[in-house]
Amino acid sequence: MSAALSASGHGAHRVAVLEGAPRVGRKILASGNGRCNLANARAEKYMGSPEFADTVLKKCPTKQVLRFFRDLGLVTVEEEGGRIYPGCGQAAAVLDVLRSAAERRGIRVLCDAPATAIAPVGGGYRVSTPAGTFTAPAVVAAFGGMAGGKLGHDGGPYRLLTDLGHTLTPLFPALTPLVSEKGAVKGLSGLRLPAVLYLCRRQKGDPSADPLISRPCQGEVLFTDYGVSGVCAMELARKAGEEQRKTGKWPVLYIDFSPMLGLIPRQFGWLNGGPADQNVKAVEACLVDRLHRMPESAVLQGLAPRLLAERLKGLSIPSLARCLAAFPVPLAGVRGFEYAQVTAGGVSTAEFSADTLESRLHPGLFAAGELLDVDGDCGGYNLQFAFASGLIAGEHAAKAR
Ligand SMILES: Cc1cc2nc3c(=O)[nH]c(=O)nc-3n(C[C@H](O)[C@H](O)[C@H](O)COP(=O)(O)OP(=O)(O)OC[C@H]3O[C@@H](n4cnc5c(N)ncnc54)[C@H](O)[C@@H]3O)c2cc1C
Repeated sequence: MSAALSASGHGAHRVAVLEGAPRVGRKILASGNGRCNLANARAEKYMGSPEFADTVLKKCPTKQVLRFFRDLGLVTVEEEGGRIYPGCGQAAAVLDVLRSAAERRGIRVLCDAPATAIAPVGGGYRVSTPAGTFTAPAVVAAFGGMAGGKLGHDGGPYRLLTDLGHTLTPLFPALTPLVSEKGAVKGLSGLRLPAVLYLCRRQKGDPSADPLISRPCQGEVLFTDYGVSGVCAMELARKAGEEQRKTGKWPVLYIDFSPMLGLIPRQFGWLNGGPADQNVKAVEACLVDRLHRMPESAVLQGLAPRLLAERLKGLSIPSLARCLAAFPVPLAGVRGFEYAQVTAGGVSTAEFSADTLESRLHPGLFAAGELLDVDGDCGGYNLQFAFASGLIAGEHAAKAR
């Protein structure tokens, strides 16, 4: 939709959106828990092809995406962490302004029209759909990714580009909950706690000595019956999957509950190759201090929720401190595309210009959004990339030929 509006705004006379589903923008409606976190005002966090994403977002930065929406009539607000939402708190408002503008500008939006092939024909492309065949001097492919169950696709649409010689990098779910080994989170399901999360390689001895990430992730951890969810856990899924593909072993998730205890985690001694000793010592000092006022059996009362206290019952103070500062959750996997918010991997960005989003193999063919090998963290980054790349692709598609 952003590509179509941009093409029309840059002089393309006839623009059509071919949508495979019965309606456009279903992911927009589901995004941000129905509030649509459509962009982020802070530094970009992208994986897959970070340099490509960087160039795209330098060409079309956050303020340009927001100006595009403001011109369509959308009022936005910035919240914690630079997250940008529609001011009215309704994802539907984002889709409404896109659809209304398309209607005003005479853009044809054809639903139930899945593209089944894109073929170069003299001076342009022919797009085949069950609803008819369309010929145009320029085509923007923006069919999204496999994440989000029925809101995504089954991988079939990538053929539209691979049949034309484009290549696909390995696809895997990202921003998805973590699955723990059986019993690792037993009795904790339903707990939501402030914590710091990090991943370590699985190895003999103290695995927390070998962190997989350079910066831990602080936020809310949500225990489920299958493992761990919440924004931080979901952001770690990509790294966990990478480690499994590289070594054949899923890493261990460590949960540091210091924020729940009212402690600020220390400078993460483990980052320098040491175990989480500094934090363990701080937690132990906190527990020892409480022992002056209460019996050991009640040391977690008022400090940790009952479910967690029950799970840690009977541990000595040093072991308890270790568990609270570095609670180990050996992982057995991550949840699949059905539960993921974004697809990692996609159409190789090496074959597209980051300045115009035009194919280097087929002039007049453009690509935008999640179908490309770019994925962002939680916080509005994925929609922002989709909108920004769409705006650029539409602009240059209008100038094609
Ligand atoms: C539950 C959920 C919540 C999310 N929340 C956020 C959030 O708050 N912030 C954020 O930044 N990101 C969020 N995301 C990710 C974000 O929604 C996507 O990254 C973004 O929508 C990608 O945009 P896109 O235009 O590339 O693809 P899509 O939005 O998926 O659009 C692609 C469109 O192409 C259509 N299509 C597919 N195949 C064909 C075909 N062959 N022919 C014609 N049409 C076709 C699809 O039906 C779809 O309408 C969320 C994702 C999910 C699943």
